[in-house]
Amino acid sequence: MEGVPHRLIEGAIIAAYASDVHEAYIYINAEANLSADRMQIAIEQAYANGLLGDSVLSSGYALEMQIVRGAGGYVCGDETTLLNTMEGQRREPRQRPPFPTEAGLWGQPTVINNAETLSSVPYILANGADAFAAIGTEDDKGTKIISLSGAVLHGGLVEVPMGTTLREIIYDMGGGTPGDAELTAIAVGGPSSGIFPVSMLDTPIKPGFIHESGVMLGAGGVIALDDSVSIVDMMRKLAAYNANESCGKCTPCREGTPRMVELVDNLISGQASVSDLDELRQLAELVNAASLCGLGQAAGNPVLSVLHFFGDELAMMANRS
Ligand code: SF4
Repeated sequence: MEGVPHRLIEGAIIAAYASDVHEAYIYINAEANLSADRMQIAIEQAYANGLLGDSVLSSGYALEMQIVRGAGGYVCGDETTLLNTMEGQRREPRQRPPFPTEAGLWGQPTVINNAETLSSVPYILANGADAFAAIGTEDDKGTKIISLSGAVLHGGLVEVPMGTTLREIIYDMGGGTPGDAELTAIAVGGPSSGIFPVSMLDTPIKPGFIHESGVMLGAGGVIALDDSVSIVDMMRKLAAYNANESCGKCTPCREGTPRMVELVDNLISGQASVSDLDELRQLAELVNAASLCGLGQAAGNPVLSVLHFFGDELAMMANRS
């Protein structure tokens, strides 16, 4: 949205035309001011050039497009929370069914796609599905925008083919660690995902889960961690983020996410026993299984992945207490 806003607008126009709808909204979260400013300019340019309005490209097809600012917070990424905030309702998900395609904004059928998906549409229409399918791997086609940060020389956004390995992202695109510091782990996906040890550097990215321990590609975050960062502290940060962002609507997430942070705090302060690690695992699995929306359904993943890959270190910490 900041760099190529017209690509998203074009994808949204095509999607709207294909769905035979005449109103389109670009929902931009409250924190993304630069995105909103640039999208607004691009929408005005599209109107001025006849790409939006009463008769798109003189076709007789009418499409109005406007920006709606989000209510702030991670949970607004849930599509039904997004709808609630657009209607001035509480910032929390709706029970499904009905799904938005049946009863969405103001009770009307609503198609919701994310910006990355819509931005792929112009390329596919211009070059053909085969050209798009040729990018990536046999099973996972297309590209993914990766947000690379942490202990790398060149952080930022990079669009890569599916199948690109974490090693290529961190070393070839990110230039490796500053001062050749030792890479100790990689946080992949975002706060709803998990942490890999360095031994998983050659893992290729793909949509959904990239490891059964709870590591997902998610929003495409890749954070390189060096030995200045403690894995347990990182796990706590991710768990605390999810607890803070919980909207409180459902009990497993509202009560379970802070309890996970509490158990991790006990571990860090030397007050956790080995049985507390079992409780932590069970709690993470329960929160994932019983929560209402995507935030809670993935909130246990940072804990589960660290227990899976760094379980020995956690057991040593627990044994010391
Ligand atoms: S899972 Fe968490 S964020 Fe989602 S509805 Fe339940 S309390 Fe709210």
